[in-house]
Amino acid sequence: MNIDQIVQQARDTETQLVRFIYCDSSGVIRGKATHIDHLSGRMVYGIGLTVAMQSFTSSETIAPGAGFGPVGEIRLVPDPETFTTLPYSPGNARMIADMFTLDRKPWANCPRFFLKRMIERANDLGLRMKAAFESEFSLIIETDDGYEPFDRSLCFSTVGMDYADEYIGDLVEALGQQGINVEQYYAELGAGQQELSVTYADALRAADNQITLRDTARGVAMKQGLIASFAPKPFANEAGNGCHIHFSAWDKEGETNLFFDAGDRYKLSPIAYQFIAGVLHHLPGLLGLSAPSVNSYRRLQPHFWSSAFVCFGPDNREAPVRIASGFWGDEMKTVNLELKPSDSSHNPYLALGGLIAAGLDGIEKELQPPEPVLMDPGDMQESERKDKGIERLPTSLKEATDALGRDEVLMEAMGEVLSREYLLIKSADWESSRDQEVESELHQYIHRY
Ligand code: GLU
Ligand code: MG
Repeated sequence: MNIDQIVQQARDTETQLVRFIYCDSSGVIRGKATHIDHLSGRMVYGIGLTVAMQSFTSSETIAPGAGFGPVGEIRLVPDPETFTTLPYSPGNARMIADMFTLDRKPWANCPRFFLKRMIERANDLGLRMKAAFESEFSLIIETDDGYEPFDRSLCFSTVGMDYADEYIGDLVEALGQQGINVEQYYAELGAGQQELSVTYADALRAADNQITLRDTARGVAMKQGLIASFAPKPFANEAGNGCHIHFSAWDKEGETNLFFDAGDRYKLSPIAYQFIAGVLHHLPGLLGLSAPSVNSYRRLQPHFWSSAFVCFGPDNREAPVRIASGFWGDEMKTVNLELKPSDSSHNPYLALGGLIAAGLDGIEKELQPPEPVLMDPGDMQESERKDKGIERLPTSLKEATDALGRDEVLMEAMGEVLSREYLLIKSADWESSRDQEVESELHQYIHRY
């Protein structure tokens, strides 16, 4: 759609405010809205934003040592492809924006541009990346004493579906109206926990869809007096909320899945194995992007189906990289890989961009993965894991971001500005969490994500 068509559509739908939104480096979705009367102009020159926002920590302060402060602006310029009215918030629409410098160049600190650069890199190798973010989240009720799960229903239980049916019905409808194809829904294991999966798409669209899904899940919940929280571990003793990333590489027409090979035991091609090897090689640092909050590491524990040891395996839900088996008769289009140590406190553009950078490194260096693991690696003796070279994943945000800082491939991919500011934010988050009570951390994350 061009600008005139968007303005017309906004007027036809009685939109008053159009939000130009972005996901910051901390994974928080933010934005500023323009009044419809100024929309056509704003679509060209954007909305100004202080540069400091991309150095913002989880305490809503500027990270100590940050390169950006009160002086300087960028422009949020919306991508017209992402225009949609908000079904749960009449009179409002949104577009996802990119960050431009005042001299109209892509800002080096923009997460969405980072993903676009990685998509380009894959294209240069003849690969078109596709992905889907598979979100789990918790429905929560705020009480005078704090937060309570919405229900205590059992895993995949129809009772759980019935408890949440009004909310899920509205959510599915709202997503459909925004062009998101919902594939599956179920009540997950944890109290109040829900899971909703959507159809895979080209990488940039997949990350945009994840923003839409998070925004919509929270917005619809709010209208029903509920909180939909994507925090990795909103309740210390319940199952965590993953946001697994499914991914595959296709030919440039997007017709043939280049990860598929009918002759292989797991139906994977040589480049898929190289991609896996790259991801496993960079996994400790990649976690700094895919599971990037203090709260993430409450979730990544052995035996919680979120993964805890560096390995991969066919339909192994304790492996950080699962080979997801294809659908009968449609294997070529459906065989894919799944990154499990990933949660919605990430910025999806950074997480997916980092994943692509890691996998492409495996292809470029023709790395080979170790043997697949066919059991829960947490059930192996320590000595067996050691013999097989199966390492524990980072167990804290600090370990993950230290590994990220040491990972030259990921650092180079992010570029100097984005990587520097990102690590400063994460280091500030880690420092401020050190004397934080568990309860206060959980509440903080329930609210943030
Ligand atoms: N809730 C688990 C996690 O934290 C995932 C369970 C599943 O395999 O869907 O990732
Ligand atoms: Mg699940």
